[in-house]
Amino acid sequence: MVIVMGPDATQGDIEAIVEIIGTAGGDAFVSRGVSRTIIGLVGDVEQFGALNLKGMRGVAEVMRVTAPYKLVSRDNHPERSTVRVGGVPIGPGLVTLIAGPCAVETPQQTLDAALMAKAAGATLLRGGAYKPRTSPYAFQGLGEAGLRILADVREQTGLPIVTEVVDAHDVELVASYADMLQIGTRNAQNFALLQAVGGIGKPVMLKRGMNATIEEWLMAAEYIAQRGNLDIVLCERGIRTFETATRNTLDVSAVPVAQRLSHLPVIIDPSHSGGRRDLVLPLTRAAIAVGADGVIIDVHPQPELALCDGPQALVHSDLEELSEVMRALPPLLGKTATGDALATA
Ligand code: PEP
Ligand code: MN
Repeated sequence: MVIVMGPDATQGDIEAIVEIIGTAGGDAFVSRGVSRTIIGLVGDVEQFGALNLKGMRGVAEVMRVTAPYKLVSRDNHPERSTVRVGGVPIGPGLVTLIAGPCAVETPQQTLDAALMAKAAGATLLRGGAYKPRTSPYAFQGLGEAGLRILADVREQTGLPIVTEVVDAHDVELVASYADMLQIGTRNAQNFALLQAVGGIGKPVMLKRGMNATIEEWLMAAEYIAQRGNLDIVLCERGIRTFETATRNTLDVSAVPVAQRLSHLPVIIDPSHSGGRRDLVLPLTRAAIAVGADGVIIDVHPQPELALCDGPQALVHSDLEELSEVMRALPPLLGKTATGDALATA
C-alpha cells in the first residue's frame, strides 16, 4: 500500500502516519521527491484498511499497488517524473545530454572533455573518480583527488557533475562533491550501496545490471526509493547476450517498457552499450527515437591516451555530428534538448 501526500503536507502530518502504521504493527517508508512525498506501507494491508488513512491530514491518495516495486511504480504515480540535477531537468518532454570522460585523469583532460561536452550541447558532466574495473590491475580512478578536479571543472564550466560511487562507505564523501551519484552496472544489485545512496539526499543514476531483468532493475530502484529518495534516473547501458561483436547488447525495448512500468526517467548509455566509437552516434539516434529521456556519452580529448574506455570515446571531430543529432532529433519527437530548453527559459 502506498500513501501519496499532498503538496501542503507537513512533517507533522507525515510523522502522524508513520506513528499510526507503527501502532498497527506495520512499517512506513517515507520517500521524498521533488514534487511530493510518498509513504510505502509494509505489513497487514487489511489492518491498515481499518485506519481511515484517507481521512488523515495531508493525505492526497491511498493506493494498493500490486507491482512488487511500489514507490517507483507508475501505478501510484501515473504522470512521469522529472528529476533535477543541480537545476538541470531530466524527464518527459526533454532529451538531456550528459557527457564527459569515462574517468577523471588530469585537470586538463577533464576540463577539455567538459568543454567538448558543452560544445555538443551537454548540460551535465560525467566523469568517474572511482572506477569499478574488471581487472584489479587496471586504473582504479583518482578517488577524492578526482572529485576535487570535477568540482573545479564544474566551477569553470557551470556543468553539474554526475560521478560513480562504488562503495557504501564512500557515499557521504562522493555526495559532498557530486550533483548526481551514479551506480554502475556491476553494483546494480549491491543492496547496501543502494540503501546508502537512498539515504543521502542527492539524485541517483541507476544503471541496469548487465544481467538484470527489467523487473530486477526496478526492484533495485525500489531499494533507493524505499530509503527516502525518489530522485532516480534509470540508465539502460546494454546487457550480456551471446553476441560478441559489441561490448554489450543495447536493449532499446527496455526504454518504453521501463517507462510504462515506472514513473522514473529512463536514459541510454550508447558508449558502454556498443563499446565502440563508430556505434555511439547510431545508438544515440536510436535512443532518442525510442523515447529515452537522455543519453550519457563518453568523450575524450585524446582517447589514444585514455586510462579507461578510450575506444568508445567520441573525439573532437565527432562533436559536430553529435550536436546536430541533439539539435535535429528531439523536435521530431515533440521534445526539446535540455540545453535548448534552459537557454530559452
Ligand atoms: C561508467 O559509466 O563509467 C561505467 C563504468 O559504466 P557501466 O557501469 O555501465 O559499465
Ligand atoms: Mn567507462
